Amino acid sequence: MAVAANTDKKRVVVIGAGFAGMNVARGLGGDARFDVVVLDRRNYHLFQPLLYQVAMAGLSPAEIAPPIRSLLSRHENVRVVQGRVDRVLLDEHAVSGDFGRFDYDYLVVATGAQHAYFGHDAWEPFAPGLKTLEQATEIRRRVLSAFELAERASDAEARRPLLTFVIVGGGPTGVELAGAIGEMSRFTLLSGFQNRLLVLIQWAWSYLTFSRGARLIVEKDWRSHVNEPASKESEH
Ligand SMILES: Cc1cc2nc3c(=O)[nH]c(=O)nc-3n(C[C@H](O)[C@H](O)[C@H](O)COP(=O)(O)OP(=O)(O)OC[C@H]3O[C@@H](n4cnc5c(N)ncnc54)[C@H](O)[C@@H]3O)c2cc1C
Repeated sequence: MAVAANTDKKRVVVIGAGFAGMNVARGLGGDARFDVVVLDRRNYHLFQPLLYQVAMAGLSPAEIAPPIRSLLSRHENVRVVQGRVDRVLLDEHAVSGDFGRFDYDYLVVATGAQHAYFGHDAWEPFAPGLKTLEQATEIRRRVLSAFELAERASDAEARRPLLTFVIVGGGPTGVELAGAIGEMSRFTLLSGFQNRLLVLIQWAWSYLTFSRGARLIVEKDWRSHVNEPASKESEH
């Protein structure tokens, strides 16, 4: 899509409507010196800090993904185009993709970041990251399915592995997710599941022992903890 070169206005192309891209677009919105085009492969702005709530069924996807178009609709000089940018043609001051082509005077690349498995990409199918709605709903599907299977399990021994969740990474996302899984099992799912008594007893036990149902493994070799109880030093 070529630009109509009809004014002295500068054309700003913003790739990505995450926090960064939205802030640029809003900052330039209403500024008569600029025409702004916001390009995003999705038609919604994703509020990533609440992804863990979607993953734990506390929120629905739509609650954290408002349309980019409506967020920017009050700015007449801002145009929103859904499309994936494949190439930046630096010499020509243009970007291209499935939408065609846009020329620019100024380009803002705000395409965000991807999670990494640090050379272990084969882990991804077993342990999805948490950066997109698709990943959040996949995690939710797996967690809720585990609770359903646990409900059908005949005894506590069979139920235990189904209700044991391993989170790799103790940064903000991992910690929030761990807290949300705990909250989900103690409160959200209590009324619907027959095995709630077991959950309640576990909760009481966790409370009394101050372990609160979550175990933090700080050693690198976490595999050894999957089948064996953690040693005193590695439990917190
Ligand atoms: C689970 C989680 C919890 C978080 N919690 C917090 C928190 O509590 N506090 C905090 O400050 N930060 C938090 N963060 C970090 C924060 O959300 C990110 O730093 C922020 O979203 C990054 O914004 P961004 O605009 O750089 O990228 P993004 O929000 O990732 O946006 C990038 C955009 O670019 C688009 N895009 C990418 N490639 C293309 C392409 N080729 N063509 C077109 N469009 C493209 C994408 O569709 C996307 O809309 C959290 C992040 C996660 C994942």
